[in-house]
Amino acid sequence: MPTYPDPPVTFVRGAGSRLWDDSGKRYLDFLSGLAVTSLGHCHPVVAAALAAQARRLLHVSNLFATTIGSEVAATLDRLVGGGGQVFFCNSGAEANECAIKLARKWGGHGRYVVASAYGSFHGRTLATLHATGQPSKHEAFQPLPEGFRHVAWNDVAALEGALDPSVAAVLLEPVQGEGGIQVASEEYFRGVRRLCDERGILFMVDEVQTGLGRTGEWFGFQHFAVQPDVVTVAKALGNGVPIGACWARREVAAAFEPGDHATTYGGQPLAAAAARAVLAVMEMEDVPVRAAAAGHRLREGLRALPGVREVRGLGLLLAAELDGPRAGAVAAAALEAGLVVNALTPSALRLAPSLLVTDNQIDEGLGLLAEALATA
Ligand code: PLP
Repeated sequence: MPTYPDPPVTFVRGAGSRLWDDSGKRYLDFLSGLAVTSLGHCHPVVAAALAAQARRLLHVSNLFATTIGSEVAATLDRLVGGGGQVFFCNSGAEANECAIKLARKWGGHGRYVVASAYGSFHGRTLATLHATGQPSKHEAFQPLPEGFRHVAWNDVAALEGALDPSVAAVLLEPVQGEGGIQVASEEYFRGVRRLCDERGILFMVDEVQTGLGRTGEWFGFQHFAVQPDVVTVAKALGNGVPIGACWARREVAAAFEPGDHATTYGGQPLAAAAARAVLAVMEMEDVPVRAAAAGHRLREGLRALPGVREVRGLGLLLAAELDGPRAGAVAAAALEAGLVVNALTPSALRLAPSLLVTDNQIDEGLGLLAEALATA
């Protein structure tokens, strides 16, 4: 269906930070899907885990136990901060759907509203679309499910003004990704945590784009020294294999009873085997530290490029604000030159390379981008 514009290139192969198209042309990938292939394309450890699991066991339904999902859940729980439980699903939107349903079940009668921020992005299902604070995306799909409220981003007072007894949860990204790579302030996240504690409201953090090392910490909220009640992840968890997860504090997760929520594929052995391998490589490579160092190099390099007015973001989730509304033309010229980036807004490019990107590749990418900025 025509839900995306016509694709400019057909990719047929990937390895690490490299991609090849159907004519054999080679590219440097500074987009990683959309912040998905954090370990690069076809990481050998992940590929081997998938091949081995495909021969051992693919699926048995969630009526029966398998071993891998619980291992992945234990690792995620440890990285988030401990004391929680995990529900597995297949995407970021589904992880947020789980969070929204959990907030409603936890909140009880009359307490069901999820407050989120303008500029946010939480998914494309009807509920997560309404949680997404971009009214232009809502128009064609009314009526959307009830129970969502939007407040100004990065503004504790605006949130406070929107909280009444019907609010069960606040849902925020630590860095608004699709909304333009807008980083939350520490003061904001700490203020939201305080408000949620005072009012007995859940603080739910959408780490679908920011999670698993990309920002220079395991999770974006860890930059702000707060602990959320619910955390959602997807994208990088499978390094390209569809898997999502919703983590919640054990007392919050306990609101769900058998039958409240379910999924045929969530946590199935193939996706879980990918996630187990991804997390093992991520811990071995200490990807948050790598993302922080590589992010610093990329940020400094971008700042020095003629035509770049500002660089925003954390770690290896960056936006380069250009000197005019020419991000589409620059992204197209970069692709022509052999560099994959995307136009995040009319005037900003998104850069989200693999967390294993090398210094040489960063320098090469900066050179290709300089070329594109000069020709577009
Ligand atoms: N939440 C955030 C912060 C995202 O960036 C995205 C996707 O870009 C989603 C949720 C939706 O994830 P998915 O496309 O896997 O449903």
